[in-house]
Amino acid sequence: MLPQVIIIGRPNVGKSTLFNRLVGKKLALVDDQPGVTRDRRFGDAHLLGLDFTIVDTAGWEDDEAETLPGRMRQQTEASLATADVALMVIDARAGLTPLDEEIAQWLRASPVPVILLANKAEGRAGESGLLESYALGLGDPVAISAEHGEGMGDLFESLLPHLEPLQPPEEDEFEEEDEEALLRAPLKLAIVGRPNAGKSTLINRFLGEDRLLTGPEAGITRDSIAIDWHWTDPKTDEVREVRLIDTAGMRKKAQVTEKLERMAVADARHAIDFAEVVVLLLDATRGLEHQDLKIASMVLEEGRALMIAINKWDVAEDASSLFNGIRTALGDGLAQVRGVPLLAVSARTGKGLDEMMASAFSIREAWSRRVPTAGLNRWFDDALAANPPPAPGGKRIKLRYITQAKTRPPGFVLFGTRLDLLPESYKRYLINGIRRELGFEAVPIRLNLRSAK
Ligand code: GDP
Ligand code: GDP
Repeated sequence: MLPQVIIIGRPNVGKSTLFNRLVGKKLALVDDQPGVTRDRRFGDAHLLGLDFTIVDTAGWEDDEAETLPGRMRQQTEASLATADVALMVIDARAGLTPLDEEIAQWLRASPVPVILLANKAEGRAGESGLLESYALGLGDPVAISAEHGEGMGDLFESLLPHLEPLQPPEEDEFEEEDEEALLRAPLKLAIVGRPNAGKSTLINRFLGEDRLLTGPEAGITRDSIAIDWHWTDPKTDEVREVRLIDTAGMRKKAQVTEKLERMAVADARHAIDFAEVVVLLLDATRGLEHQDLKIASMVLEEGRALMIAINKWDVAEDASSLFNGIRTALGDGLAQVRGVPLLAVSARTGKGLDEMMASAFSIREAWSRRVPTAGLNRWFDDALAANPPPAPGGKRIKLRYITQAKTRPPGFVLFGTRLDLLPESYKRYLINGIRRELGFEAVPIRLNLRSAK
């Protein structure tokens, strides 16, 4: 008997589309007309290492709209009786409706665990609906696109605590993103940093025109948020598209410095949302300051690829000791920053900027990289053989296999037993190994543990 996962939601939120995606066949008829599917359907679903029966509840929206909630409630309750987990689907584009709220209320009263899915969240169109859906009281929503196969790694991770993985995934079956297309798309690059670090000067240098005002006062006006630009790789003459996200763009006038300092963090937070890669610009004449570390750790916590560029290199005194000093201070201040590229640049002379751009493109590639499960587990077996996990109380912690559940940023799931006893240091050993040996240097990596019961 496989565990049962039931899909619940009002008409037209994408239940059938999700069902089809999980079953992997075009079984159900999907249509824009609400209520096209009329029966409760069962299918064998497979998602990474998880096998379960998926149940699509439908058919409640027959002819009379007034009876809809009543019928839905009956259906829902009947289906919940046999379910191990419920997936409540909302339409993140349409936002919440009273019927969504009513369904959430039934589900909150049921003992079955519920995962809230904000569907149709491809692109960024579902953002407000996603935020709204917290109000349903069903915990953090998982953004997915049933139609485009996005968020399936996150769905997998949410299902893990509730379902038993039966076997390691045989081959790679992941989100069906077109990775090639993602890497051909314009690089979304944010330049962040404290006031006066040289962000405007850098962007002006790129654009080759004085489009943004720069001046000795901090925080001079800039308006645009995203600027499209082409970078020509001098090594290959390849022209590559870049969308620059300009962080100080929301501010009109120079303001009190202290406020600007705080705004630098707020601006960075905003830019990070949009960016794939974030360049943190430091000022060589000032060195590394607390605010810089704060921004760096925020970038990594948000799962973005980070690079650090020391600007104004043209006026740096004692360049090599400055560079090493910053490198050491970074490592001391923030362990996760080790491995992040540190470059010396000058926005004024252009020094180091091509290297910076080349590095930004390659770091995006690592951030988007998918390691096939077979290769990953070959590395994993070697890593375990070289340094076996400890045996607290004489009982060995068993690590069975590892799989990459998502990219951008890369997320891995480790399966085994007694994983709650796995020391942080061992987790770090694995994460460092993944970084070093599988080509994820300099990108934030997440590792989730999943113990078999
Ligand atoms: P159900 O009534 O809840 O089973 O919804 P369906 O699966 O029939 O989907 C309703 C409509 O939403 C169809 O036109 C689907 O193509 C569309 N849809 C489903 N999933 C997505 C998605 O992830 N993104 C977008 N944009 N549309 C979707
Ligand atoms: P923002 O506040 O980060 O946008 O900083 P700006 O671009 O306005 O630069 C602040 C000041 O630093 C200006 O006077 C710039 O001319 C100067 N500056 C920026 N980049 C460099 C550089 O590479 N070398 C030198 N020497 N000065 C720079």
